[in-house]
Formats: sequence, C-alpha cells, structure tokens
Amino acid sequence: MKQVKISFVIPCYRSEDSIEDVLSEIEKTVEQRPGYAYEVIAVNDNSPDRVLQVLKRRGEADRRIKILDLAKNGGKHAALMAGYAYAEGDIIVSVDDDGQCPIDKLWELLEPLFHGYDISLAKYPSKRQSAFKNFGSLVNAKMAQILLKKPKELQLSNFSAMKKFVCKEILKYQNPYPYIDGLFLRTTGKIANVLMDERERQTGSSGYTFLKSLNLWLNGFTAFSVLPLRIATLLGIVFSAAGFLFGIWVVVHKILTPDILAGYSSLMAVILFVSGILMMMMGLIGEYIGRIYISINNSPQYVIRETVNIGSIPSVEKNYDEKNSLS
Ligand code: UDP
Ligand code: MG
Repeated sequence: MKQVKISFVIPCYRSEDSIEDVLSEIEKTVEQRPGYAYEVIAVNDNSPDRVLQVLKRRGEADRRIKILDLAKNGGKHAALMAGYAYAEGDIIVSVDDDGQCPIDKLWELLEPLFHGYDISLAKYPSKRQSAFKNFGSLVNAKMAQILLKKPKELQLSNFSAMKKFVCKEILKYQNPYPYIDGLFLRTTGKIANVLMDERERQTGSSGYTFLKSLNLWLNGFTAFSVLPLRIATLLGIVFSAAGFLFGIWVVVHKILTPDILAGYSSLMAVILFVSGILMMMMGLIGEYIGRIYISINNSPQYVIRETVNIGSIPSVEKNYDEKNSLS
C-alpha cells in the first residue's frame, strides 16, 4: 500500500517553550500508525524569542523538520500560506505552536477526508479563552456566516486538515492579506467538523493583540466580499430618502405654523449623524481601494529569509513553471 504523507504546517511566534512538545507529540502520534509518513513545516513568523534556534536544533537531528524563517512578522495566515507553499504531503494539517491543538486526536480529524470530505476542522465545544476573545470569536463567526456564506453549524478553528488539491487551490491566492478561513470556504463545500476538546495554553500568552485581531477581522470583512459596500449604498439610499422626506415635512410644518422657532439642535443632530455615516462609508471605500492598490503594487504575502531542510521548490513556483512550460 502506498504510504500517505502528512504535512504539518506550524506558524511559530513566541513559542520557544512549547514548540518542542508539539513536535514530539506529532512524532509520537504519526509513528503509532503504519502506512503514514510525515513532514513538519515550521514557519518562524519573525518571532522575537529564540524559537528559530530551537527549531534549527531539532532540524539538525531530524530532516523531516523543515523550517521557513520569515523576514517580517505578517501574522498567522501569511505564515500558513508560506508553509502551504512548501508542503509536499497528500494531507496538509495546520497546527498551532502553543500546544492548544489536541494532536492526539489527529486520526479522528483525518477520518472525514477518507469519506468524501475535502477539509476537516476541529470543533471545540467550550472555548477556553477570555470573555473578550469569546466576543471576538462570536463576531467573527457571524461575519463568516454573513459575508463568507459559512454554514451556520460549521465552526472554524486552529486545527484543520485538507487534501492536497485544496492546498494547491488556496495557493493560487496571491494577494497580500490572505485569510485562510475565507479561502477554505470559497474552495469547497465539503467541509467536516470533528468534535474534540481544545487544550489550555501551557506557557506564555496569546500572540494576538487587540490590534492584530482587529486587522484580521477587517481582512475577512473586505477580502472576500463586497457586501459591506452594498450595505453602505443601501444605507445611503435610506438616509437620503429620510432626509428628503424630513425636508418636506419641515417646509410643510413651517407653512402651517409660521411662528415656529428654527430648530438648530435638531439640525445639528441630523448633520452629525449623517456626516458620521458618510465618513464611515468613505473609510470603508478607502479600505477597499487601499487593498486594490496594495495588490497591484505586488506587495508580498510573506518574505522568506532562510530555509532549512528544504530541497524542493515551492508549489507556487511549480505552478508557475507548469504554466510557463505550456506556452
Ligand atoms: N501567530 C503567528 N504570528 C503572529 C501571532 C500568532 O504566526 O504574529 C501564530 C502562533 O504562532 C500560533 C497561532 O498563530 O501558532 C495562534 O496564536 P495564539 O496561540 O497566540 O492565538 P490564540 O490561540 O490565542 O488565538
Ligand atoms: Mg493559541
């Protein structure tokens, strides 16, 4: 029987204390099953700690551990994209570096891929995180539901497995600001959820600051949908119609009761309200234009400073070569 190869892609950021346990658990888990081989693609997202040194030490002893060192911190999704480009496995599994993903449940996670599904995502019943993050997750889930047309019951998470063709398809997305969940949802409708418990974070604290989360959120908001623009247009129509009717009413009112005082306060309220809405919409439009600009500017998703234990060229370039050789 042909061996199935699994690629584990791990974005690494501030995880010098936890990454070794994650690597050991992957080794222990995959070696339990005959017929499976694996590689790890650890992507150092320009972490300020010594995680790169830790990875390199492991990589020296174990060639299955491949390392990408990114020149800039670009966030988890860009780091994942970099890792996907070098993944050679039949199945690509994304794992966090902090030990929160229950890697011992790997085989349960992979099960749906052998039964017609293209992507399998861990589903955690109770989220082990702060109230603030819970609120963030809720907003994110609602956003994905409305803007990315995520089925309601489907839960997105940090522990996922996909077939090779999905990974290849995702890599075609070359714009800056990748958003993996959006890419999953636009690639296939066959996405499974597997129920399992998320673990507590062992060491350190979340690498996601408020600003980074906000960034990611705006990203998902604007990268895959023009619905916010449509809503802006609709709101514009509603407000101008309301303004028009209100204007008529004011004139009629003035004619009927000529001695009424001019209402500056109501005027101010309306001006403030409408100009606020206008500014918000202009900001939104600016966001889209900025993104178009950055895209045509060819801003990279990530920049690789160094690779370790990687001999092959990445799939993106492979695709590119294939295209070129056709012409
Ligand atoms: N991460 C990253 N770059 C960053 C921040 C985080 O690559 O700038 C990675 C991190 O290494 C981890 C994953 O994103 O693998 C999730 O990060 P974290 O555990 O801090 O977030 P949380 O689990 O709290 O959502
Ligand atoms: Mg975490």
